[in-house]
Amino acid sequence: MTWSLRARLILSYVLVTILCVLIISALANGLLESSFRRYLRGSLEKRAQAVALQLGAQMRPDGSWNQAGLAAVGMAALEQGLIVRLSAPGGETVWDATVHNSGLCVQMLTHMARNMSSRYPNWQGQYTESLYPVRYSFQNVGSAAIGYYGPFFLNDEDLTFINSLNRLLLWAAVGALASATGLGLLVARRITVPLERVVRATQAIAGGRRDVLITEMTRVRELDGIAAAVNDLSRGLRDQEALRRRLTADMAHELRTPLATLQSHLEAMIDGIWQPDAERLAGLHEEILRINRLVSDLENLARYEGDSRSLHRRSLDIAALVEGIVRNHEPQFRAKGVALRFGSQEADGASTLHVDPDKLSQAVINLLSNALKFTPAGGEVEVQVACGPQGAEIRVADSGIGIRPEDLPRVFERFYRVDGSRNRATGGVGIGLSIAKAIVEAHGGAISAASQPGEGAEFRIRLPG
Ligand code: ADP
Repeated sequence: MTWSLRARLILSYVLVTILCVLIISALANGLLESSFRRYLRGSLEKRAQAVALQLGAQMRPDGSWNQAGLAAVGMAALEQGLIVRLSAPGGETVWDATVHNSGLCVQMLTHMARNMSSRYPNWQGQYTESLYPVRYSFQNVGSAAIGYYGPFFLNDEDLTFINSLNRLLLWAAVGALASATGLGLLVARRITVPLERVVRATQAIAGGRRDVLITEMTRVRELDGIAAAVNDLSRGLRDQEALRRRLTADMAHELRTPLATLQSHLEAMIDGIWQPDAERLAGLHEEILRINRLVSDLENLARYEGDSRSLHRRSLDIAALVEGIVRNHEPQFRAKGVALRFGSQEADGASTLHVDPDKLSQAVINLLSNALKFTPAGGEVEVQVACGPQGAEIRVADSGIGIRPEDLPRVFERFYRVDGSRNRATGGVGIGLSIAKAIVEAHGGAISAASQPGEGAEFRIRLPG
């Protein structure tokens, strides 16, 4: 059986409350009773001794007893639950409460027994009697047998006190249970309502909706954390979906142009309008190469993205690796009339990194060929490598056309090309930087771009040590 969070919370609140009330009641009653018993036992003893003292005081100097005084002391004692019988040293009874007022004695005893059995159903009380010496002028003048319903008894006031305490505890229990249920409901609401919101949102996301966002905040860190995670998930999925759509559309667009050229040129040749001469065939070949390039770029991208396992790392001198690439590209730069410079700085001789040389070269080559593509003749490109204990930074800066601020954040996206360069003359399909980014991130590094339009662009690759 599955329980709702609300039911569980309320039940646990109620259970804890019941347990607390039971413990408090048991402790209160137990403590009260044990101290009551102690007090009553002591006070009975003291009262009995006081009665014996008062009885002694009723002897007249001539040795006779003041019967009226004895009756007053005896009746007062009876009212406190003590039944007195005074005997002379010879054994003959001087004053006996049962004789003096038998009815009242019986009434007292039954009343005490009833009091005790109302509180303790299993009470095994019995009438007990103790003997106390009665003295007058330091002489034993008799003995008082003082009996009570023992070992102790509760009088009416004691009983009323205990009963009202228990009634109070009962009300406290009812109040505590009601507040526990109320509080449980409130707390459960505060937790379950946001959780239900999260459930609804995730169901909507699973159902295909991509505009789901949880805007209500609860000020409960964990619950807001879940809502934020669901929002991130929703945004991520929305972006992924948009990217996937754009990717498909861009891919179709990129393929359509060379395919349409191929189709129309081939049709023209089949229809005999064009002769399949070497120049035209070379044009068609160029289109096929273009499609091939696109497909292999996409393949590379899929391979590098989010997969650091495909790296074949080895320890190598990163400055030497970049310098080699720069040297290899010098002829192309010279041919276009763009100056290419290389520089490197090393701190503590730490220029060795554990990287995949082929893939990292690919990333640097992509930056370098972009710099060449977007820098007009007469411009310059500077490549710098800085190595330190934290890792390495490869910087490729050019004095070319630059990138507008609004395009800058998007240049690493697949198929993204700045409008001005969106012509086939530059030859790119907008994947070079995506591949560079995927490779750098697979190495655990980061790539960034900065630019002043018209003054050039600067790309930085940071690799961890
Ligand atoms: P492409 O293969 O088309 O060059 P990239 O992903 O390498 O695609 O680059 C994306 C876009 O970023 C380019 O089309 C270009 O508009 C811009 N870009 C990249 N590098 C530079 C640069 N050094 N200077 C100016 N613009 C650049």
